[in-house]
Amino acid sequence: MKVLSFSFLRPAALFCCMIGVLAFSTHQTIYSRSWHAPLQVTIYPINGDDSLTTHNYINTLTDDSYADIESWIAREAKRYNLALDKPFHVTLGDRVDSIPPPLPEKQSILATVWWGLRLRHWVFFNTPDKQSNLRRIRVFVAYHEGEEDKPLQHSVGLQKGLIGVVHAFALPNQNSQNNIVIAHEILHTVGASDKYSWAGTPVFPEGYANAHRVPLYPQRYAEIMAGQIPTSSYASYMATSLRSTQINPITAKEIAWID
Ligand SMILES: [Zn+2]
Repeated sequence: MKVLSFSFLRPAALFCCMIGVLAFSTHQTIYSRSWHAPLQVTIYPINGDDSLTTHNYINTLTDDSYADIESWIAREAKRYNLALDKPFHVTLGDRVDSIPPPLPEKQSILATVWWGLRLRHWVFFNTPDKQSNLRRIRVFVAYHEGEEDKPLQHSVGLQKGLIGVVHAFALPNQNSQNNIVIAHEILHTVGASDKYSWAGTPVFPEGYANAHRVPLYPQRYAEIMAGQIPTSSYASYMATSLRSTQINPITAKEIAWID
């Protein structure tokens, strides 16, 4: 008697799944950069160090904690004559009780791809609501008490999947700088690239808010994808709030605000 083999089903299912994910990502990318209607940004807070201080800090967060992100992007959109008054609507989502997978220690394409798959799997199982993600950016913010001279993990923003993972300090006086990092990662999800060097300093000209300023130094603003305000060709300092950052024409082009 002939025995039917169904072993081909597993790779076929995986292939269909990958095609489905790819098609959805392509749709997300097209819709998110069309700028016909505001994109929803939902911020999901996470207790990154499982401490009571961070727990209490998260309890103080409201939509208002992120209001300057929404108004800053609206201000920048106006400078570029975008037809939308408010390109993003930012709200606080529910708390997430799980930690996203850490970035790979080794820099390799395979490790990065594997991490990306794990992250998307984690996001799928840890988004605490059932809203559509076609026009929504999900930003998971892991708050930490932090230790002096110990940097937090790197934050990331992925265009594929419209997902951001931010590591931030659970301190009220850090809210403004946290919002710079969140805005930076949001812009990555819609196509903006980093504009700082390996040393963390702004690259000229793309990392300057105004590369044509006369005199060039000191710059008045930080370019959001560089994060620092250059005071000379070798010195710069961190912007302290979104008020002192701008989107330059190179980033505006990357996110399809201008041609
Ligand atoms: Zn970045």
